[in-house]
Amino acid sequence: MNLELKNLTRGIIDVLEIDCFIDSDVSLDVISKSKTYITGKAHSKADNIFISLNIVLPIVVNCDRCLDETSYEYNFVYDGEILKEDIEKFNLKKLVDEEIFLNNPTKVLCSDECKGLCMKCGINLNMGKCKCEFEPVSSPFDVLDSIFK
Ligand SMILES: [Zn+2]
Ligand SMILES: [Zn+2]
Repeated sequence: MNLELKNLTRGIIDVLEIDCFIDSDVSLDVISKSKTYITGKAHSKADNIFISLNIVLPIVVNCDRCLDETSYEYNFVYDGEILKEDIEKFNLKKLVDEEIFLNNPTKVLCSDECKGLCMKCGINLNMGKCKCEFEPVSSPFDVLDSIFK
């Protein structure tokens, strides 16, 4: 990759098509992850190399509500530029790992309608109902009431 980028800086080529899989080392709280698929291009213009990438990474994680295994796919676009003189320092894998980290989803749900787990018995409410009963949440006024009784 870096070798081909050098061809850009030397003016041997103007555009470099990028289409590759890499193993990301980014530390994510996942059950499993696939290879990261990167497509895009780098093109040279004056002193810069402009890089636009589409980054796709399928992962398997626990649903944030019911903890069931569910799949999620990072799929985002990166646009950036580097100075030709910095090409030696450029590391595609490192850049992609950082971008994946920045695009970390705050919450992954198995479905928008996920009912989650019962707070009392822990049953997965997507699978069935439990017999737990919930008292209405007591307000501070209830406490005052009981003091004055
Ligand atoms: Zn869920
Ligand atoms: Zn329950």
